[in-house]
Amino acid sequence: MSEFTKTLCPYCGVGCGLEVSPPAQHGKATNRDSQGTPIWRVRGDKAHPSSQGMVCVKGATIAESLDKNRLQYPMIRESLDQDFRRASWEEAFDLIAKRIQTVRFTQGPEAICMYGSGQFQTEDYYIAQKLMKGCLGSNNFDANSRLCMSSAVAGYIQSFGADGPPCCYEDLELTDCAFLIGTNTAECHPIIFNRLEKYRKKNRKVKLIVVDPRRTPTAENADLHLAIRPGTDIDLLNGIAHLLMRWNQIDVGFIDDCTSNFPAYAEVIRHYSPDVVAHRCGISVADLETAARYWGQSQRVLSMWSMGINQSSEGTAKVRTIINLHLMTGQIGKPGSGPFSLTGQPNAMGGREAGGLSHLLPGYRLVKNPQHRAEVENFWGLKPGQISSEQGMTAWDMITGLENGTVGLLWIAATNPAVSMPDLERTKKALLRSPFTIYQDAYYPTETSAYAHVLLPAAQWSEKTGVMTNSERRVTLCPAFRFPWWEAKADWEIFAEVGRRLGFTKEFAFANSAEVYAEFVQLTRDRPCDMTGMSHELLQTQGPTQWPFPSNNAESPVDTQHSKRLYTNLRFHTPDGRARFGAYHSRGLAEPPDPNYPFVLTTGRLYGHWHTQTRTGRIEKIRAMHPEPFIEIHPRDAASLGITDNQWLEVRSRRGKAKFPAKITKAIAPGTVFVPMHWGALWADEAEANALTHPESCPDSLQPELKACAVDLTPISAE
Ligand code: SF4
Repeated sequence: MSEFTKTLCPYCGVGCGLEVSPPAQHGKATNRDSQGTPIWRVRGDKAHPSSQGMVCVKGATIAESLDKNRLQYPMIRESLDQDFRRASWEEAFDLIAKRIQTVRFTQGPEAICMYGSGQFQTEDYYIAQKLMKGCLGSNNFDANSRLCMSSAVAGYIQSFGADGPPCCYEDLELTDCAFLIGTNTAECHPIIFNRLEKYRKKNRKVKLIVVDPRRTPTAENADLHLAIRPGTDIDLLNGIAHLLMRWNQIDVGFIDDCTSNFPAYAEVIRHYSPDVVAHRCGISVADLETAARYWGQSQRVLSMWSMGINQSSEGTAKVRTIINLHLMTGQIGKPGSGPFSLTGQPNAMGGREAGGLSHLLPGYRLVKNPQHRAEVENFWGLKPGQISSEQGMTAWDMITGLENGTVGLLWIAATNPAVSMPDLERTKKALLRSPFTIYQDAYYPTETSAYAHVLLPAAQWSEKTGVMTNSERRVTLCPAFRFPWWEAKADWEIFAEVGRRLGFTKEFAFANSAEVYAEFVQLTRDRPCDMTGMSHELLQTQGPTQWPFPSNNAESPVDTQHSKRLYTNLRFHTPDGRARFGAYHSRGLAEPPDPNYPFVLTTGRLYGHWHTQTRTGRIEKIRAMHPEPFIEIHPRDAASLGITDNQWLEVRSRRGKAKFPAKITKAIAPGTVFVPMHWGALWADEAEANALTHPESCPDSLQPELKACAVDLTPISAE
């Protein structure tokens, strides 16, 4: 038997396979961290179809984070000005159950909120939904995926009638033209980019178009980099469509047979002539025409996007406008083509499957759909009407709910909103007003633990068994390969125990996570994400598997070809089976620059760090790669402010301020500045990107526009 356990990297949505083995088995070659402590050995799993043995620096160094700054046991305090004291699980569970009952019967179930995470395994997500939306009757479960990819979810649902990225990673090696917009794939999804670039090295004719206001490492590799002004994505996309129409490079047969609403779309794109679009986007007409020519002349076009599109007050419209280009050229449902949203977190996809946003129910169902509610109520053995028909609170709603007193209990798990939410000053003030906050996490301290009344130690990925789904719909079993740290418990076990203490003993009578998963997959039967053929056992023996995977697949496990891509039959999940064009004019940024705040700030990730550094901040190699935050500024703007490289700048928005050393670079366009989003109060003084951002959201996806806000810059003189 191999000494290595196969699992999945728990950082990002690429979902790379890892093999891990304990430190003691390697004698003199024992892996050690920078302090000399033996650590688990980690290597890429060559047999994992998604990553083929590749890993980036985060996956390669994950073992160093396993034992550092872990929360050891439950802790409780009466008020936020007191110190925590150690408590038993018994005491913590009793207190939580009592507080839930009090809020339930005094303020109603709609005053109970849970804010979860794409770091959850699917079993954690599922039990949380059953507790909140089923047993308690509160749809107020939202996840940090709301800040990450909810515009992609809304866009897919509106265009195709169901969520779900239709493509697979094999398409990276079959495409003629990769169109990357709003994604710094080389740094944020590095193994996807590696696969694409390996293929392009062998096939020099394959084009890479990158659309990004910054000249990122991704853009450095492009055949064509379109450095558009922030907020002009829809102008650009409609401009490309305009040229494809004008050049008659559209697939009329596909439009006629497989789509609806094309006339309305054609009427919109008529207004996006090249000179108008080039002027608005700040690019040349020639570059716009080159982009349209690459798209129109390619047999297979694969578009990819992530937060640069999703984190926008018109995020859903942007997603649908990308999809429109595929529909008008018939670039979907065939190898090497399609609109492919890249998920940020390791199991954001599993969250979508399990209903882990406040408008969703398990199995790609919607809270607002009466039939969907009835199906879930029936399956869970609830009374008709027990699931609320109201969409629950989103992440930002919970903050405003704390402000206005409608939130009576907030349960935060596996996420760090005191760094990652927009308008941090307001967020922190709201968290201080919470009557009762439970914070459940593997790590301590974090910026959010300062706002908790109860701390619950969660087992992390290595210490619990569950599944995660990556961006290409591939589900991987992640078995526990070490004991939970001190008194830590799996998130699903904590939720289930609270459920039992609230009287739902039958509903949460699970012996292990395999039983949880077995129940969950039954709720996907005949749904677009049907995975009724999957089980922990099947994933253990067959390895990582894509959905759809209905129960009859389990009998012929080698036949997974049909799961690679969605919509190969060109029928969609809409009532008429046609994909819908969305017709949108560009609205631009929610907060454009003005004389008082003349710069556009955009935020993003760096290659080595992950989100708010709860893990990567504890890894020496990554800290050395990215020792401190900074602000990128164009030489022309630096000259007009009279600053030199590394001089500190105070950055002010309408909501707050922060300070960063300047990194003067032509990689950023004049008028725009960039700040990485990883630094919270634990890691640097006054360097929080989200002190500046605003919560203005997309009306469809309710995803905040974390990507852009207006700021002013003031040099800080050295004294
Ligand atoms: Fe992990 Fe993502 Fe890096 Fe793969 S690309 S090793 S999933 S962080």
